[in-house]
Amino acid sequence: MSAKKANLSGELKKYFGFSTFKGQQEQIIENLLEGKDIFVLMPTGGGKSLCYQLPALISEGTAIVVSPLIALMKNQVDAVNGLSSDDGVAHVLNSSLNKTQTKQVFDDIKSGKTKLLYVAPESLIKEDYLDFLKEVKISFFAIDEAHCISEWGHDFRPEYRNLKMIIDKIADVPVIALTATATPKVQDDIQKTLGMTNALVFKESFNRANLYYEVRPKVNVDKEIVKFINQHKGKSGIIYCLSRRKVEEFAQLLQVNGINALPYHAGLDQKVRVANQDKFLMEDADVIVATIAFGMGIDKPDVRFVIHYDFPKSLESYYQETGRAGRDGGEGHCLAFYDPKDIEKLEKFLAQKPVSEREIGLQLLNEVVGYAETSMSRRQYILYYFGEIFDPIKGEGAKMCDNVSNPPKLKDATKDLKKVLELIRETGEKFKAKDLISVIAGKESAVTKSYKLEQTSYFGFGKEKKDNYWKTILRQATVQNFLQKDIETYGVLKISEKGLQVLDHDLDHVFLIAEDR
Ligand code: ADP
Repeated sequence: MSAKKANLSGELKKYFGFSTFKGQQEQIIENLLEGKDIFVLMPTGGGKSLCYQLPALISEGTAIVVSPLIALMKNQVDAVNGLSSDDGVAHVLNSSLNKTQTKQVFDDIKSGKTKLLYVAPESLIKEDYLDFLKEVKISFFAIDEAHCISEWGHDFRPEYRNLKMIIDKIADVPVIALTATATPKVQDDIQKTLGMTNALVFKESFNRANLYYEVRPKVNVDKEIVKFINQHKGKSGIIYCLSRRKVEEFAQLLQVNGINALPYHAGLDQKVRVANQDKFLMEDADVIVATIAFGMGIDKPDVRFVIHYDFPKSLESYYQETGRAGRDGGEGHCLAFYDPKDIEKLEKFLAQKPVSEREIGLQLLNEVVGYAETSMSRRQYILYYFGEIFDPIKGEGAKMCDNVSNPPKLKDATKDLKKVLELIRETGEKFKAKDLISVIAGKESAVTKSYKLEQTSYFGFGKEKKDNYWKTILRQATVQNFLQKDIETYGVLKISEKGLQVLDHDLDHVFLIAEDR
């Protein structure tokens, strides 16, 4: 690669008008220009695009940018073309182009005019594109949204899996992979799949110190949200629901309550959807009630709250969605409503999926439950999930969560944990939570009858406490890794190593849960 390494600041100013680099941008660009493979893990808004746009603009040849979303590619191409007086500095290559347009793109690449070529992975496989790209000078590959490679990411795309093979066919040039999803598992997957385990890794903190994290039990949720919005009058917010039907119902309910809210989901007519999004961006609507279809690539700096009517399927999704609050560094309240029943529904849904997907889905959900039910700093919990150690006392933004600003009282529930572990051991580790609860509460069911559990001494041992209490014990025991949910049988609870320790060594005071549970 012909590297114009000198005077990067000058080039930054010339093309982007910025006087200084953000975070580690400069080191990233320098190393890429030196020909190294690079892996960038940076939260949304960190300035990832510039890490490949600038080096592409100043290198000889064309950089191929792989990106999953055609709509986002178009925006990026327009933005890059706007940086230079020359149209054609950036192009999209996909099947929507007609013959003349494709020829124009090819001509611009051949003449050396095109510095960035945006493609979706499925386009890159096309023979005629491949044949052409093999013959021209490529400066480097940028893999944007690289988490799409990993089944452990929140947006797995099978087409991404073949990228390494395609890249190798086209050119032997450096690769820069970028993502805002940084769980150690995903990171490892990306590096292995792209064959870049030796890449230089640049990781920035994922801490969003200005965001306040809060979880409330999902009771009277409609009223709670209306009250919350009224306390934040005139401020912008997003409310996420899982289903389209809920989106529409709830947007209406808010409207009836005098709140300027609009719905957004992929099933709405395209015109309505765009109009609603624009109204939200232009401040004609305060609140948008949406499915996860809303938000990708939307850059509204002053979103003041993100409410999750329903919990999402993974903590990454939760982080991404809440990350749309407070982009300007100002207030950003992230409130989620938690009902274990919602999680059960998601689990049932997963039961119909192929084993590997189910296994991953259940583990991701388990993390969500862990977050929802934790009594520790929620910021610490999220950052730990991203492989980052956060000091819950001195870290930046440490006080910005319900558990820290208003700590729940903890109680020791080890005795009840032991009873449950004993029950599971005695009954041969073959029951799901629901059936164990029947036994604990002493309620007959088809399962208890067929196994004659009514005749055992432990039948009904916990009936003086509510079923919900025992559900929490079982859930918390799973989250805290005293129990494991068996994947094959889907949901059968087994005792983990850690659980065996409690039983075998009669450990005490090892299982704490919040007092109000
Ligand atoms: P990401 O892809 O990581 O979400 P973007 O590339 O969209 O982030 O950048 C986020 C914002 O930061 C954009 O508005 C971009 O113009 C701005 N930005 C990027 N680099 C710089 C810089 N060096 N100085 C000032 N602003 C920057």
